[in-house]
Amino acid sequence: MSKPRKVAKRPAGEAFRWVPKGEDSAASSPDISLEEFRRSGWEPLPDKGSTSLKDYYFNSYARFGIHEDMLKDKVRTGSYMQAVYNSKHLFRGKVVLDIGAGTGILCLFAAKAGARQVIGIECSDIAGFAKCIAEGNGFGDVITYVQGKVEEVELPVDKVDIIISEWMGYFLIYESMLDSVLFARDKWLREGGHMFPDRARIYMAAIEDAEYKEDKIGFWDHIRGFDFSPVQELVLQEPISDIVNDTALATAPCCVLELDLKKIKCSELDFVAPYSMRLQRKDFIHALVVWFDVSFEAAVPAVVLSTAPGQPATHWKQTVLYLSEPLVAHQGDVISGMLAVRKNKDNPRDLDVKLSYTLNGQVPHACTVQSFRVR
Ligand code: SAH
Repeated sequence: MSKPRKVAKRPAGEAFRWVPKGEDSAASSPDISLEEFRRSGWEPLPDKGSTSLKDYYFNSYARFGIHEDMLKDKVRTGSYMQAVYNSKHLFRGKVVLDIGAGTGILCLFAAKAGARQVIGIECSDIAGFAKCIAEGNGFGDVITYVQGKVEEVELPVDKVDIIISEWMGYFLIYESMLDSVLFARDKWLREGGHMFPDRARIYMAAIEDAEYKEDKIGFWDHIRGFDFSPVQELVLQEPISDIVNDTALATAPCCVLELDLKKIKCSELDFVAPYSMRLQRKDFIHALVVWFDVSFEAAVPAVVLSTAPGQPATHWKQTVLYLSEPLVAHQGDVISGMLAVRKNKDNPRDLDVKLSYTLNGQVPHACTVQSFRVR
């Protein structure tokens, strides 16, 4: 739930006061009719650009709200800051490229850490504000922004020493921005250069989640006396982004994917992985939860940005895949199966997820396959 907003006190005379038509407003407030108010005084607000409808994905990042959420995410922004400041020995005097610079916060960290030149590529119209911010903070000579898509722009240099980027989406790879980072790496990163972050992993664990499953899936059974149950099947196919309490975990985590960002190829981002998880207690299993971490291993000391249940929450939360029927599991039982993930053919920014699971134990559950779409 969102916090109640604080009401800012404005200096007297600056606030609008509502004056109903016909009220004697005497000296205190502007005496205009509703019609006059409607017609006049429309201040043109600074235009954030003309591309707003051309490409929804790229321009969704022209809104400030999305950047506010990211900048306020202390784990996210703090981990990048720590990683850069723990790597001053690598940044000093070097050329740094930021893929998807947004408001330019990572460029500012890099410049402050002593980079000689920082280039930020940003496709959305927020790039213009990033430039003002860099100048206002005295880094106008060090930081340059290039507005455009990574795949289409030209840079003022041939090679860079470090690529930094905050590219992670839900389920780590949702949004497919990593493809653009790998494109940039192959084109511009010099031999022996560094990637920030340089490693990423996806994990999975089984959870007891009766209450939330009822709230999210059971809810659709009947609504105010009407049968809504056909929706349930569709809702099950949408992984839910939510904060999962670590007390819900009934197994230890299992790492299903590890990426070395210096080497990985785009084609390897469609993956299939076997998994196996042993129950740590007797419980019902309602879902598998998926999360990720990324690490900056060149930093000294290394920094890990984790989105695991039980860690301080991030805007990525965790991703919950509900099972169609709960499993009855006992301590020592094993849940195993396969997880396959690929880009959706119609919308390559969405992910198709296929999960198989078998429970071997006191109350066995035969192999079941469920499909999901992360969108
Ligand atoms: N680096 C910023 C913003 C991260 S969000 C921060 O840490 O706060 C990712 C940004 O990448 C968005 O602003 C988005 O517009 C941009 N982006 C995504 N794909 C891109 C591409 N292919 N080319 C250029 N910019 C891209």
